[in-house]
Amino acid sequence: MIRDSEMPLPGASSGAGVPATQADTSSEVWAEAQRFIDGWKGGINIAHEALDRHVAAGHGGDLAIRWLGKNGTRRDLLYADLLAEANRFANVLTDHGLHPGDKVFVMAGRVPEIYAAALGTLKAGLVFTPLFSAFGPEPVRTRMEIGGANVLVTTEGIYRRKVAAWAHEIETLKLVLILGDTAPEGCVALGPALAAASPAFDTVATRPEDPALIHFTSGTTGKPKGAVHVHNAVLYHAYSGRKALGLEPGVKYWCTADPGWVTGTSYGIISPLVNRATMLIDEAEFDLERWYSTVQDERVEVWYSAPTAIRMMMREGAEVAKPFDFSSLRFLASVGEPLNPEAVVWSEKVFGQPFHDNWWQTETGGIMIANQPGMEVKPGSMGKPLPGITAGIVERVDGAVRELGPGEIGELALRPGWPSMMRAYLHEQARYDKCFVDGWYLSGDLAMRDADGYFWFVGRADDLIKSSGHLIGPFEVESALIEHDAVAEAGVIGVPDETAGEVVKAYITLNPGFDPSEALERDIRGHARKKLGPAVAPREVVFRKTLPKTRSGKIMRRLLKARELGLPEGDISTLETDET
Ligand code: ATP
Ligand code: MG
Repeated sequence: MIRDSEMPLPGASSGAGVPATQADTSSEVWAEAQRFIDGWKGGINIAHEALDRHVAAGHGGDLAIRWLGKNGTRRDLLYADLLAEANRFANVLTDHGLHPGDKVFVMAGRVPEIYAAALGTLKAGLVFTPLFSAFGPEPVRTRMEIGGANVLVTTEGIYRRKVAAWAHEIETLKLVLILGDTAPEGCVALGPALAAASPAFDTVATRPEDPALIHFTSGTTGKPKGAVHVHNAVLYHAYSGRKALGLEPGVKYWCTADPGWVTGTSYGIISPLVNRATMLIDEAEFDLERWYSTVQDERVEVWYSAPTAIRMMMREGAEVAKPFDFSSLRFLASVGEPLNPEAVVWSEKVFGQPFHDNWWQTETGGIMIANQPGMEVKPGSMGKPLPGITAGIVERVDGAVRELGPGEIGELALRPGWPSMMRAYLHEQARYDKCFVDGWYLSGDLAMRDADGYFWFVGRADDLIKSSGHLIGPFEVESALIEHDAVAEAGVIGVPDETAGEVVKAYITLNPGFDPSEALERDIRGHARKKLGPAVAPREVVFRKTLPKTRSGKIMRRLLKARELGLPEGDISTLETDET
């Protein structure tokens, strides 16, 4: 049963002169994609596609989630169980007077309740916003203010440490739900509330353009933006999960991303459930041996991770992986940062499969360019656009856009129109409008397309280094550096130089067994010179214990640069590692 949505359409969704971002439902690709969902006519609701539909079709007994607690506990949730939990959560929201369109912020670790909360929020027609549980008080507050949070779901510990002091100042906040059986004054304990709620709920018939998700960007290049996504995105979540990751009913799938950022929601909740896969969720943080034994013991088939994790595996060496049986693995994919060719080759050796790089952004809501199953992998390339996605390499000329040819470096751009494209940056209409020029969405990333149609990442537009007339992308330099036996990770920036304009400077971390020394620095520079030539190789290599990274695992080059130049550090709300 589906109830009518009471939600107004988003007012802020598109400014004058901005191309429509709604799906072109006439195209063949979207017609094919519609086969994977059933709510297309009339209303469409992400949670309905993820749960109700499967249970109604007799698949309630399929395993939806296998949850591994950090202390060795395990919990299995069947599709019928997860549906009941989500329904209870939806009832708790409506019982407390929340309405479609209200915003639910969730900040807790990877515990089963947050998955039910996400889906229950969507069922009730409310908007789901995940936050990293490790965010400090200020980033949480800023995001809740920007997003106009009406509900916060969190743990008692997080609430007391990070939220209690200022919660009353957030005028929109109506309800704080605390996981567990007790709650501080003014909050509601979720355990008893769920137990008292009915496991049945009529999903709200949200319309395709009703807002469903707000995701804050990673903050790699500056202050995070709040990207708004609509229920219609589910069409693309369903489609791209199949095309780019090989998700299908019953597949054992592990997405290692935290739901605190977009990958952990689009492909860590929605896409696998809509495709009726079985999701493995590990509550614990990265631990190499735990990861390997999880893949082995749980017979993981599709594994979606990120370069930062893959580089950590490489750092510990192939030997550590040897005792494990990885024969269940069928498809490995990576996103979030450029995947160095070395990592692709390494994973092929260790897992018998290459990691397949794919590219997308918070803004695009789903995978755009990918090394798709069955496609030949060119190590270092992001692959090709998914069918239905038109990508180009362009340059901006006088307020217009010109498409560049194979081999030319320019800005990676996409033709708007796929269902999961963002509909707004919260409160930043002008910034949103600026992303669209001449019928293209401009990504802010630089890339190159080769003659075979493969796309190659060059760098963020802001990170490009201009040295003696050469344009140097940091990715190329970093990839060459980590091919050196001693180098685990590298972050490369340009620093001002009187004669060259800028010169390349590299910050690196070392593999176990190597110590910083002048001789090693010389050797690494020599290696880079041999690979890249003197104009592109770093002039200086600096050893670091860690590199500054976002919580989603991306190297923050802008911070390396700000520190190098003694400039203000800017927004560091998403900074995770900060030792020097
Ligand atoms: P912010 O926009 O706040 O600076 P962010 O761009 O890192 O942060 P996300 O939306 O999480 O926020 O990340 C998208 C970006 O990550 C892309 O624009 C691109 O720069 C980078 N990225 C993602 N996947 C890849 C990939 N496969 N190869 C290279 N870069 C990638
Ligand atoms: Mg970005």
